[in-house]
Amino acid sequence: MNISDWLRHAQAVLTASGCPDPQIDARWMAEDTLGMSRSELKFESDRAITGAQQAQLDAMLSRRASGEPVQYILGTADFMGLRFHVGPGVLIPRQDTETLVEAALIAVRERPGAPAVLDLCAGSGCIGLSIASLAPRAEVTLADVSREALEYARRNLHELGAKAELRHGDLFAAVGREKFDIIVSNPPYIPRSELIQLQREVRYEPQLALDGGPDGLDLYRRIAQEAMGHLKPGGALFLEVGAGEAGAVLELVKSKLPCLEAGTIRDLNGIERVVFAKI
Ligand code: GLN
Repeated sequence: MNISDWLRHAQAVLTASGCPDPQIDARWMAEDTLGMSRSELKFESDRAITGAQQAQLDAMLSRRASGEPVQYILGTADFMGLRFHVGPGVLIPRQDTETLVEAALIAVRERPGAPAVLDLCAGSGCIGLSIASLAPRAEVTLADVSREALEYARRNLHELGAKAELRHGDLFAAVGREKFDIIVSNPPYIPRSELIQLQREVRYEPQLALDGGPDGLDLYRRIAQEAMGHLKPGGALFLEVGAGEAGAVLELVKSKLPCLEAGTIRDLNGIERVVFAKI
């Protein structure tokens, strides 16, 4: 069997199993297993694969066909041009969240010196560690209530060679009385009743990272309530929100913070994805 035979077979299996991106997933598994880049895979697709490689590829394929996210199978996810280690117990970084990071990065870079940045509900660390890597002047703290997630963040911190502090605790309880220039968060925000309707891949991810309470807004209420006590003068808060939640979260934030400026930012799909407030 050569590479293109396996890719064709994998795409047919994944399509039949209801996988949303059969071509991309088959290609990622092949690139990873064969140690080839995207263009090598394309231009050397008539290269034969060994029996051992095929066994490994087929094992991945059957996990993927039964619904496991491809990022858990590979153990990695790409985000902001960086590679993050992920697996069961931590949310997979989403491209939508790059909108949040880009907005926070602008605010971080506008500040002189070494701005203190807090990533609340940090999970794999994709937000805070992207900021630490792309704006190395920042002093980044990552906080999460899940020790399991923090272990992924710790590994990512080392593998990226970034500089950041890791803290364990429930929201702001993780950081005592510390204050920050920028607080950024992608908290769980799916309304509880919608959790069971999510695509099967998402059901492999931790509920803790997704469940936003009855209306999805529980964590925003707590963050809005406590943020003022953790922002330095002139500081800013950046929150990722679920589709349709921006209006309610913006009102919440405005009701709890004396905002100089507040608003929303759309993601690449045109969805209002980020709520920000500057005090
Ligand atoms: N964006 C994720 C999803 O749609 C949800 C992440 C979150 O709740 N913060 O599955």
